[in-house]
Amino acid sequence: MYAESIGRLIEEFKSFPGIGRKTAERMAFHILVSKKDAATKLANAIIDIKEKVHPCTQCFHITDTDPCAICSNEDRDAHLLCVVEQPKDVLAIERMGLYQGKYHVLLGAISLLDGVSERDLTISALLNRVKAEGITEVILATGPSMEGDTTALTISQRLEAMDVKVSRIARGLPTGSSIETVSKAILADALETRRPFKNQGA
Ligand SMILES: [Zn+2]
Repeated sequence: MYAESIGRLIEEFKSFPGIGRKTAERMAFHILVSKKDAATKLANAIIDIKEKVHPCTQCFHITDTDPCAICSNEDRDAHLLCVVEQPKDVLAIERMGLYQGKYHVLLGAISLLDGVSERDLTISALLNRVKAEGITEVILATGPSMEGDTTALTISQRLEAMDVKVSRIARGLPTGSSIETVSKAILADALETRRPFKNQGA
């Protein structure tokens, strides 16, 4: 019922999370009636995100420069490292506007259920950074979930032999939530009131 190219665009939009047929049709027709410039800008933005955006080779945050803007910012405290699961957690903490250290993105969390082990994450790169970059404190800001806790515990064990303070943000974060979804105030409080990470029997 549509010209083939409109039908194709509708199908593409329909594959987006949360987009049904009606919305997909509205989006396709919006593009159809918009200026050619606007459509080209959108198409180029999509191409750029796939071609130019990649993980930072230092912290594994997503970036189109390498190192990323955070790693290369000399005004930030290079001795303080906040460890998070995903790039979106970096964005959540950055939105708070209080944290002035640097980050390390694990690209996941240890999960027996999903078959994600320590080796699938960027933990060995993290240990190398702690050794090489003179890090004095590692803040474990993995999610307040079983996976986040397991990951934090594993990292704290790996860091035990190193001369570095290890702390964990936790207080006030609802169990099972994610760093990305908690409010700014709760996240700020959790970061402010971080506590030294103690291993069982350590
Ligand atoms: Zn970086």
